[in-house]
This record gives sequence, C-alpha cells and structure tokens, in this order.
Amino acid sequence: MIICPYCEAENIEGADECGDCNQPLSEMSIRVPATSVEADLLRDRIERLWPKTPSTVPSDMPVGQVLKKMVDETIGCVMVVDQGELVGIFSERDALMKLNVDAAKFFSKPISQFMTQQPVTLATNDKIAFALHKMNVGGYRHIPILFNGKLAGVISIRDILRYLTERIASGRPVR
Ligand SMILES: [Zn+2]
Repeated sequence: MIICPYCEAENIEGADECGDCNQPLSEMSIRVPATSVEADLLRDRIERLWPKTPSTVPSDMPVGQVLKKMVDETIGCVMVVDQGELVGIFSERDALMKLNVDAAKFFSKPISQFMTQQPVTLATNDKIAFALHKMNVGGYRHIPILFNGKLAGVISIRDILRYLTERIASGRPVR
C-alpha cells in the first residue's frame, strides 16, 4: 500500500495517481518535494492555519439579514447551521451569482434557497496541501473545517496565502 501524501488515502502499489484526490503518486512526487514550501504543505495540517470561528446563520434567516450580517462583520461567507448541523454555506460569490441586481427582490426569502448545500468540508487534521488541492479543483474560496464531525472553523484561500508567504519569507533554501 502507498499512502497518498496529500489526503492520506491508501492506494495500491504502483498506482499512478491517488484514487481519492487524483494527485500524482510517482515516487518523485512522494519522496522529493520540489521545494521546502512544498514539503511544509505536505507535512502541516489545517490546524496550523488556526481556522477562524465561523459566523453561522439558521437556514430560515432572510437573505437581507444575512447580507447585512456579512457587511457588518466584514466577512466573505457564513455557515448555515440548523440544530448544530452544517447544512450549507453562503458566500459573497453566491450573492453575486445568485442574487446580483435582483438582490432586493429576494431580501425576505430564506437563505436556504441561495446557499450551497452540503458544502465540501475538511477536518482539522487534513494536510494543508490537500486543502489547497480541494480549493483549486472546486474553485472554493472558503472551506468549513470539522472536528469530530462538528463544524469547528472555516479556512479561506487568504489563510493559505498567508501561510505560504510566511513560509517563503522564512527564507529557507530550496532543497
Ligand atoms: Zn490522495
């Protein structure tokens, strides 16, 4: 068995790519990270990004209230939570794509009609490289983070960029 360095799924010996996350599994990509930054990405886990406590709203909250909350708190997305369970995510991009110029017309509609249902989630102990891959493939800017199956935080592409710039600024030589 080969353990995928990105997502830690088990793959059969000799597999060219991971069956779970489609990352290449050649010996080169597993054993010799091209740079120290890449090595960090493959070693460090999402908990290292200190996922922020997410702003949450119930699924029946009207769109207008949700938008006001996002503006007031200067946040790019909210987690939609019912009875402690994550049921969706609503982001600025959803606001642009689904509401746009008609936003005012929808102000009293529940956010459940516009949220992205069953969003992709990651766990605090997933690798940062895996989060980056998910964001890249899915085009997500925010990913909810679960701990023991419960919503524990949210990471944004900005969190990963901050992490990367810190790594690059640390000035360690490229291996
Ligand atoms: Zn994988």
